[in-house]
Amino acid sequence: MTELLQRILPTVQKPARYTGGEFNEIQKDPASVRVRVAFCFPDTYEIGMSNVGMRILYGVMNRMEGVWCQRVFAPWGDMEEAMRRHGLPLWALESQKPVKDFDMIAFTIGYEMSYSNILNMLRLAGVPLRSADRTGLKNIVFAGGVCAFNPEPLADFIDFFSLGEGEDITVEIVSLYDHAKAESWSKEVFLREVSKIPGVYVPSFYRHEYNADGTLASVTALDGAPKMVTKRIVEDLDTAYWPSEMIVPSTEIVHDRANREVFRGCIRGCRFCQAGFSCRPVRKKSPQVLYRQAVETLENSGHNEMTLSSLSTSDYRGLKELTDALIPYCAEHRVNLSVPSLRADNFSRELMERLQTVRKSGLTFAPEAGTQRLRDVINKNLTEDEILTTCANAFSGGWSNVKLYFMLGLPTETDEDVLGIAELVYKVMETWKAYGTSRKRGLRIHVATAYFVPKPHTPFQWEKQIPPEEYLRRCRLLKSHLYSKAVEYDYHGPELSRLEAVFARGDRRLGRVIEEAVRLGARLDGWDEYFDHSIWQRAFETCGVDPDFYTVRGYGEEEILPWDTIDVGVRKDFLRRERRKAYEGTVTPDCRQGCAGCGANRLLREVDCDA
Ligand code: SF4
Repeated sequence: MTELLQRILPTVQKPARYTGGEFNEIQKDPASVRVRVAFCFPDTYEIGMSNVGMRILYGVMNRMEGVWCQRVFAPWGDMEEAMRRHGLPLWALESQKPVKDFDMIAFTIGYEMSYSNILNMLRLAGVPLRSADRTGLKNIVFAGGVCAFNPEPLADFIDFFSLGEGEDITVEIVSLYDHAKAESWSKEVFLREVSKIPGVYVPSFYRHEYNADGTLASVTALDGAPKMVTKRIVEDLDTAYWPSEMIVPSTEIVHDRANREVFRGCIRGCRFCQAGFSCRPVRKKSPQVLYRQAVETLENSGHNEMTLSSLSTSDYRGLKELTDALIPYCAEHRVNLSVPSLRADNFSRELMERLQTVRKSGLTFAPEAGTQRLRDVINKNLTEDEILTTCANAFSGGWSNVKLYFMLGLPTETDEDVLGIAELVYKVMETWKAYGTSRKRGLRIHVATAYFVPKPHTPFQWEKQIPPEEYLRRCRLLKSHLYSKAVEYDYHGPELSRLEAVFARGDRRLGRVIEEAVRLGARLDGWDEYFDHSIWQRAFETCGVDPDFYTVRGYGEEEILPWDTIDVGVRKDFLRRERRKAYEGTVTPDCRQGCAGCGANRLLREVDCDA
C-alpha cells in the first residue's frame, strides 16, 4: 500500500473498503501474469461485494493461467475528494496498482443509475472516457450485466459488451486478448476478432440514424458485423464453475452472508419484469450439487448465514430435498438459512417454521397490484385468496410482521386499482384479527410502492411511464386511505425512477448527457446523500435532450428500438402477444402449466427448459 494511501485512510469512512487483503483474496506473482484485468463494480465496496455475478467472474478469470483479475469499486465521496486533493489515481485492491496500468477494464452493470459511476471511475483512473479516444490495445474497456441488454446509452464509452452469463464467454474474451497482446494486434484488429465471439456486441460496428421525430430510422451493421447478437447462457449449471472459496469482507457489506444460487430464469412471466424474461430459459441446479457447494462455501468462509437465491426460490422444485439436507447441517453449525423471494401462492408454512427455528423474521410478498384485474394485466398469476390464505397461515404460525410491495403507474391502472391496494391491506389486517396468535406483538404491515419503469425485452417495453406528478397524485391518494397505525407506507420520490426509465430505454444520444452530468459532479446516484436531480436537469438542457422522449412517450410497436440488435432469447412477437393479452386482461399460465412459446429454449442445445 502506498505511503500516501496510508496517510489518507484514517481520514475517510470505512477505510477497509480500499485496502484489500481479505481472507480468500487472490494474490498472484506479478512475474507470472500476462494479462491484468481491473474488474470494476460501479458502486461502493459493500454493494459490489454482495454481487454474486462479481464473485463468480472474479473466480473464473483468476482460474486462468497468466491472468490476474483484481477488484475495483467506486470510492465514497470523502475518499474521492482526498484522491483529487492528493492526485491519487483509482487503484485495484489486490495489487494496489493504478487501474490505468491494467490491460483490460471490465464493468458489471446491474443498475442504470450506476452509469455516472462508470464514467467517474474511468475519470478517477485517468483513462479517456470515450472509446474512440482510447486508441491502443491497453485499457480495453468492456462490460456485461443485465443493463447490457440495452447497451446504447453507454455505446460511446464501452469498447464492447459481453451479453448474458459470463462463465464461458469471459474466458474466451480474455484468452483472445492474451493472444492479441502476444501478437501485438492493434485495437481495431482485436475488436474485429472479439466481435466474432458469440455474445459479444461492439457498438462501433453499428451505425444508428434517426428520423426527424427522433425515432430510430435505421441500425446498420458495418463490415460484416452480425445483424443481431444473441446472449450467452450456461446450459448445465451443475457442472458450471462456482467459487466455493469466497472472499470474506473485512468490513460489513449489504448482503453479508454466503449465497447459493439455486436456478436461473423464471417460469412466471410477470409482464413488467426484465430479469424474468432476459434470464430465460429456466435451468436449475440439482439439490446434491447445491448441498455440496453450500457446505464447501460455509466451511471456506465461516459465514453464519446462508441464503438460497434466485428470481423465485419458492419455485425451485428441489427446495424441500435441499433444505431437508441443509437444515440439520445448519442447526449443528448454528448457521441461519434464509429463503428470500417467496411467492404468496406457494408459501409453505411447514418449511418456514423449520427454516426459522433460529430466528423468526418478517414476511415479504410482492402482490405488485391491488386488484385482481390489474394483477391479471401484469400476469402476476396471484389471487387475493392466495395472498390472504398465506397471511392466515403465517399469522396462525405467530408471524406479525408483513412487508407488501406494489408498483404504481402500471399499464391500464385506474384509481380503483390504487384504492385496491388499501382494500387488500385491510383484508390482511382482518385476517390477522381472525388468525393472529402473537398478541404480544401487534400486527405491523409495511407497504411500499415503486414507480413503474418500463424495461426492454419485456411485454411492457413499449409502454408510457406516467408523468411524475401523476405518480405522486396516486401515492397521495393511497396514503389518504391507509390510516391505520399498524400500517406504515413508504414510496420512492419519482426523480430517480424517471431517470432509470430514460437510461433503461435510451439510445446513443444519451452518452453526451451522462458525460455532461458527470462533468457537473454526478456520481453515486443510487445514494440519497449524493443523488442531485438538478445536475441531470442541467445536463439534459445543455445537451438539448428531452427525457420525456424516453419516458412518457410510449414506443410504437413498429418502431426500431435501440436494443433491437440484442437478442435475449425471448422473441419480440411473443412480447407483442403478451402485451395484447395484458390489454385484454388475460393471463398466461407459468411454464409448468405448459410452454408458452417465448422462444428462449432455442438457446438450449442439449436439454429443454427445466421449468
Ligand atoms: S421456452 Fe417455454 S418453457 Fe421455456 S421459458 Fe419460454 S415459455 Fe417457459
